[in-house]
Amino acid sequence: MATTTTPRAAAGGSFLIESPRPDDVFTPAELTDDQRLIGQTAEEFVANEVTPLIGDLELHKQGLMAGLLKKAGELGLLGSGVPEEYGGSGLDKVSSTLLSEKISTYASFSVSLGAHGGIGTLPIVYFGTEAQKKKYLPKLASGEMIGCYCLSEPQAGSDAQNSKTRAVLSSAGNHWILNGQKMWISNGGFADLFIVFAKVDGEKFSCFIVERGFPGFSVGAEEKKMGLKGSSTAPIFFENCQVPKENLLHEIGRGHIVAFNILNVGRLTLGASCIGGSKKAIADSAKYAKERVAFGKSIGEFGLIRQMLANMAIRTFALESMVYRAAGMIDRATLAAADGADKTQHLMKVLEEYAIECSIGKVYGSEALDDVLDQAVQIFGGYGFHEEYPVARPYRDSRVNRIFEGTNEINRMLIIQMLMKRALSGTLPLLAAGAKLQEEILGGPSFAEAAEGPWAEQERIRAGAKKAFLLAAGAPMQKYREKLADQQEIVAALADIVIEIYAMESALLRAQKTESARGAAAAAAMRAAASVLLEDGAARIETLARTALAASVEGDMLRTQLAVLRRFLKREPVDTIALRRAVADAVETTGRYPFDRR
Ligand SMILES: Cc1cc2nc3c(=O)[nH]c(=O)nc-3n(C[C@H](O)[C@H](O)[C@H](O)COP(=O)(O)OP(=O)(O)OC[C@H]3O[C@@H](n4cnc5c(N)ncnc54)[C@H](O)[C@@H]3O)c2cc1C
Repeated sequence: MATTTTPRAAAGGSFLIESPRPDDVFTPAELTDDQRLIGQTAEEFVANEVTPLIGDLELHKQGLMAGLLKKAGELGLLGSGVPEEYGGSGLDKVSSTLLSEKISTYASFSVSLGAHGGIGTLPIVYFGTEAQKKKYLPKLASGEMIGCYCLSEPQAGSDAQNSKTRAVLSSAGNHWILNGQKMWISNGGFADLFIVFAKVDGEKFSCFIVERGFPGFSVGAEEKKMGLKGSSTAPIFFENCQVPKENLLHEIGRGHIVAFNILNVGRLTLGASCIGGSKKAIADSAKYAKERVAFGKSIGEFGLIRQMLANMAIRTFALESMVYRAAGMIDRATLAAADGADKTQHLMKVLEEYAIECSIGKVYGSEALDDVLDQAVQIFGGYGFHEEYPVARPYRDSRVNRIFEGTNEINRMLIIQMLMKRALSGTLPLLAAGAKLQEEILGGPSFAEAAEGPWAEQERIRAGAKKAFLLAAGAPMQKYREKLADQQEIVAALADIVIEIYAMESALLRAQKTESARGAAAAAAMRAAASVLLEDGAARIETLARTALAASVEGDMLRTQLAVLRRFLKREPVDTIALRRAVADAVETTGRYPFDRR
């Protein structure tokens, strides 16, 4: 594998207080031939087997999606998370990220595949007993059984632990009896295996493996949805449903550990699938912009159309850089498992370590894709509103990404909660960094760290953004302390700063790495994209930090803090119109997303 020069596994969330170098991050340019082959197989499968059937899939033709999943299983596309000894391919995170990206041009298929191979299979991989793994994993990896994940209930989505589904042990003690209802279950209509959460004796949140044929199990009618019409989403009912005793997954009362760790993985996968959707929208829009004529010119010559194409490429560039960076960190940390350690348990710990980055990928990805598709519809004009053209369906399909796998509101809260937890436990020296910053503020401007070289200005912005976060987080933390979580608007502003920093830094490091490897000319458009992300990101961070500070301090103290904030984010003026034009040129020249595989 063509690895980066320094395989360093940074601690989760440490990007906020450290200054990683380009060699510290994985970028798509480093995908190996084997990994690219996996991506190509997935891409070809979707192009040859799935895309021709979209019309019928959207009409929910009986058995079609289940049949496609089984076919994907035959090609080895379902078992990426299943270890080889149980019939899977046990892919590393970068490979499975590429796979998720490549299968995502038709969202209904990628959601169905993710519900099966991700949240429907991984609970058994991570938490199953040996007997459960042997019994179910080979069938899930091959597609002989299709899986799904049943957490949500009509009254309990975000508040999943408010579950009303109950489990009691039968009087003979040989099976569990489940009663209750699940809601919005992807693949519910045709799945064979259901990962079901229920409270034992009405109290202890737990997880069970349920098969379709178990007595007392039934599936309700398909939901009529805004989008994802090709996917199955159905309610599931349990009426004295009998589940063998040995089908308890993990421990009684530890269902939340299963539920939340699995969602964690799903979030990065969702970010990856948004990359594929965005790239397709860029290619479709670039082609249309070239062909459509208005006022005697192709609309692709108009500045405002070019600006949209550039914006789409820039956001996708940030997302791709963020998600592959996180996947690379996960792989590096996974490789660092001590000899003899249980690899599955170690991988779960690693995924927990990068839960912040996974949530960031989910929030940024879902919002970037919505934004990209919104601009795609705009470029297509009236035809953007037509079902026969390629952007209306993805526009509808994309909207749910902000709702499932933890809504974006919940994920924003989680990002800050997880950071605070790591800070207070000492895992992440965030408090020490805050104290150091206070010393620097009291000591006046420091010139010690002035960056030099061709990226000096961009690196100064990155450093200033991190200081702005510490400043903006410090005042609300001091004022609200353990009640900070109740100040949701402040928490969300802080989460948005964190997301901006991760986006701008991931893009910057990738552009720097590309420039070193391929030279300034080859990296010019990427440099332009990164520079826009830094400039616009800094402006957004300034606004967000002002909002958080103004809600936390007042009077002279506030004025002083705002002056410090301005100092941190002071930057040279940048012509972002010219930078966007450079990116638009690259989209025009390539006819698609211009930074693919770079
Ligand atoms: C197409 C589709 C497929 C799905 N697939 C599955 C699946 O396979 N398995 C499964 O288990 N579930 C699935 N879901 C359910 C999905 O996970 C939930 O819809 C989601 O978790 C949100 O829950 P909810 O709909 O009850 O909304 P609610 O939790 O009621 O949220 C409503 C609004 O309130 C906000 N909100 C809630 N709590 C807070 C809070 N503490 N602070 C701030 N804001 C808050 C939310 O962000 C949201 O904006 C699917 C849903 C859809 C639409």
